[in-house]
Amino acid sequence: MILPEAFEKRMKEKLGNAFPAFQQALEEDTPVSIRLNCKKWKVFNFPQTVPWTTDGFYLEKRPKFTLDPLFHAGAYYVQEASSMFLEQAFKQHVDLEESLNVLDLCAAPGGKSTHLASLISEDSLLVSNEVIKSRSSILAENMCKWGSGNVLVTNNDPKDFNRLAEFFDVMVVDAPCSGEGMFRKDPGAVTEWSEENVKLCAQRQQRILMDVWDALRPGGVLIYSTCTYNQLENEDNISWLLDQKEAESLKIETDPQWNVTAVEEKSQYSYHFYPHQNKGEGFFLTVLRKKGEWQPPSTKKKSKKSLLQKASKQEQQALNGWLKNEDPWAFIKHKDTLKAFPKEKLTQIEKLYKNLRVVYGGTELAELKRKNIRPSHQLAMFQSLNKENFQHLEVDKKTALQFLSKGDLQLHELPKDWALITFEEIPLGWVKRAGNRLNTYYPKEWRIRMDISSENY
Ligand code: SAM
Repeated sequence: MILPEAFEKRMKEKLGNAFPAFQQALEEDTPVSIRLNCKKWKVFNFPQTVPWTTDGFYLEKRPKFTLDPLFHAGAYYVQEASSMFLEQAFKQHVDLEESLNVLDLCAAPGGKSTHLASLISEDSLLVSNEVIKSRSSILAENMCKWGSGNVLVTNNDPKDFNRLAEFFDVMVVDAPCSGEGMFRKDPGAVTEWSEENVKLCAQRQQRILMDVWDALRPGGVLIYSTCTYNQLENEDNISWLLDQKEAESLKIETDPQWNVTAVEEKSQYSYHFYPHQNKGEGFFLTVLRKKGEWQPPSTKKKSKKSLLQKASKQEQQALNGWLKNEDPWAFIKHKDTLKAFPKEKLTQIEKLYKNLRVVYGGTELAELKRKNIRPSHQLAMFQSLNKENFQHLEVDKKTALQFLSKGDLQLHELPKDWALITFEEIPLGWVKRAGNRLNTYYPKEWRIRMDISSENY
């Protein structure tokens, strides 16, 4: 790989004798890793764990993920291994038993957000935000497939969050950066790299941090990460923030076998991943705690006009048995749909709807069509779906891929009415019998577009 001259010079200064090993690692294949969605899939026969995680695993080679129905079912997320280090920051500095408000500010396509959704408690709330509209749709799709239920996907500029003063207990800023750590995985990042762009990225990161700082409560935790190596976008930005705001840098304990490069300078702790030392791409992470006293706001105060209207008794009865455990959920009627929102977070969710552009919120359980009630695709993806309440038809891989492509389905039996199509017992979506025919209800914008007819299953 031909590296930009200025980048190479800087990395030689930074790494010294280790530079040839770094350069050599850039010629090697990118490791492939996934993180399991254990609320959907409990298979642990992967040979190698990503050591700083519980649910992350390396694969020996890169399969065609598009041809794996479990990928579409949200049974796992394909995620670069180094960035899964977020788990350590969370486990060591956040009380995961608490009911938290968590913001993932730069969230698309959803690697960190799906991870956060698995780490936080069921009565916590994750706001997964992406400023670019088209990317927020991809984020919403991935969050829907993950199926946690306590997630809101928003499409807002960081400065919009100053309407939510001290709202969040935890914030993750996985900032847009110059992408030096992605050179091996994404050759486009090499051609786009320049000293000028590094400076622009650093300035943008400062703006982003300033814009959201007030939305973090005193005592709250900010996790800042990039996939770049340079000091300007990493340590320097954090020193700059610490100079202006009352915060302290937090240490993360690391196992020596992980080979993480921990840097401590003037009570500022930071963590670097390099491809010649870690089985993953380049990554940087640091954790801050905002100083100050905090009084939690009372959640008792009800707003006069609620945006979230409770479903009627009759509508709620129609959903009887659809979820494994109904206790954590409030059933809300929104236009012609019935949705489940986390009961304990309704006041906060209401506030978020009033202040942000929510593109995905709660889990749509059903659509109301005249007198009929139709199960929604989001329900099929929901971790809390009570599968046993519905007829399900287990299919082989070829049929599963036909379903996911919205092609003609050949089933051994027609269902009685609505039924779930499952692959390895994990729901993929709905079908419904219409006389002697079968209608499929997989969202057309998510369908597999590649030609699957010539594939060996
Ligand atoms: N956290 C994501 C994950 O784990 O999948 C990756 C995020 S990526 C490193 C940075 C994200 O920041 C991109 O989705 C990009 O669209 C978004 N972004 C770009 N400019 C931004 C800005 N000015 N403010 C906030 N986010 C921005």
